[in-house]
Amino acid sequence: LSRPSEIFAPRRNSQGFDLTDEAELARIDAARATHSPDAAPIIASGDGTGTTRDVVNPATGELVASVTEADSDTVDRALAAATPWKASPKERADVLRRAADLYEENFGPIFAVLHREAGKSMADAVGELREAVDFLRYYAGEGETRHAPARGVFAAISPWNFPLAIFTGQITAALMGGNAVIAKPAEQTPLIAAMAVRLMHEAGVPREVLQLLPGDGKVGAALTSDARVNGVAFTGSTDTAQIIRRAMAEHLEPGTPLIAETGGLNAMIVDSTALPEQAVRDIVASAFQSAGQRCSALRCLYVQEDVAETLIEMLTGAMDELGVGDPWHLSTDVGPVIDEEARDGIAAYLEEHKARIRHQVAVPETGTFIPPTLIEVGGIFDLEREVFGPVLHVATFKADKLDQVIRDVNARGFGLTFGLHTRIDSRVEDVARAIRVGNAYVNRNQIGAIVGSQPFGGEGLSGTGPKAGGPNYLARFTGAAVDPVGA
Ligand code: GLU
Repeated sequence: LSRPSEIFAPRRNSQGFDLTDEAELARIDAARATHSPDAAPIIASGDGTGTTRDVVNPATGELVASVTEADSDTVDRALAAATPWKASPKERADVLRRAADLYEENFGPIFAVLHREAGKSMADAVGELREAVDFLRYYAGEGETRHAPARGVFAAISPWNFPLAIFTGQITAALMGGNAVIAKPAEQTPLIAAMAVRLMHEAGVPREVLQLLPGDGKVGAALTSDARVNGVAFTGSTDTAQIIRRAMAEHLEPGTPLIAETGGLNAMIVDSTALPEQAVRDIVASAFQSAGQRCSALRCLYVQEDVAETLIEMLTGAMDELGVGDPWHLSTDVGPVIDEEARDGIAAYLEEHKARIRHQVAVPETGTFIPPTLIEVGGIFDLEREVFGPVLHVATFKADKLDQVIRDVNARGFGLTFGLHTRIDSRVEDVARAIRVGNAYVNRNQIGAIVGSQPFGGEGLSGTGPKAGGPNYLARFTGAAVDPVGA
């Protein structure tokens, strides 16, 4: 087990795009110009029915498309038609690899929809497509030699913050296990989901094996309380995961798996030996990339008192360099938050804590923007909930109080990501041993886990495991025993 090749199947991750190359940029620009997204239930037995919802571009307020959401009759018909995938693991893997190729070929319309529906910057859109493609190829490789019994029908309930990558990851794992999948994307991002399902069908996934039900929590609730469902994959808030768990306990077969990835109150510690320029770069990426809308994002920064003022000065300077605006433009680093409800919730939080705001960046007036914000909390952190946006809290600690910081972080009950900036080797070992999180990063940012290399997932209130993009994930989607190896 000491060599990575014994843990991870041989593979090559998606290469993405070189955004510094003018010719490449022109190619991307041309390819994203033409697209006409639409979404409606995609079920095996003809058309679905339901009411419509408008998808609005969060950066501009413009209508992107009007989407038909599934009603209860459509949910019922999808469940009745759902059929596990009879093809061999090798055949399934080949189809999913074909889907990966189709995703890559369709980068233009995919980027356009990610910008307009989900407010994703170009860098985020490129990262997201790569991750989706990586999930397809990685799980195909992991599953093609495993002959484990399918569980039956999986409900895949996915979030708007990675509306292509996490959507694809859940589905691919369930499909590689031979299951039928009913996918329920977040109500904010049905367009990219419909595009992905069409590409999977084009690649050869049978229509009765993969169906799509756009809709809100009512559709999710109908699925997670229907005894025809044999497994649930969910990524979203900790609260929703708890509601799902209760519904499943009441209505589904005992032992039905719930694979949940939820929130975090992620911390980073910067001590006085850290390289300040590097720490600042990684803090900015961890807290503000994707407008802070990652469950892995940095929420609470702890800086050793001796260097705090210098570091915070540098950090506020770096925040002023962020390009905040319409994600369609290449100069945009930070786009809007997903919708008005999200903006209003975060704005209310900022209003409540305005006495402690140390720094804020200007944002456009239209669109659901939240200014990247730094909140100073002194030495005490009473942060209880995840603020899902570009809001970073900073506290200081005295050189001899590092243990107390670690205890505070562990005491919050979440355990997703953690960052440490230090040049003391023994400290890296001590802290890594003491901190209870799924993903700990040293002297780098704490977002953007790479499929197949950095299995991603938390403990405690942050999720059930197994980690996505790691060698144990697939087993949970089949009747096979969990592989004891690694992550
Ligand atoms: N896997 C992502 C990362 O490492 C985060 C996923 C999420 O936000 O749900 O940044």
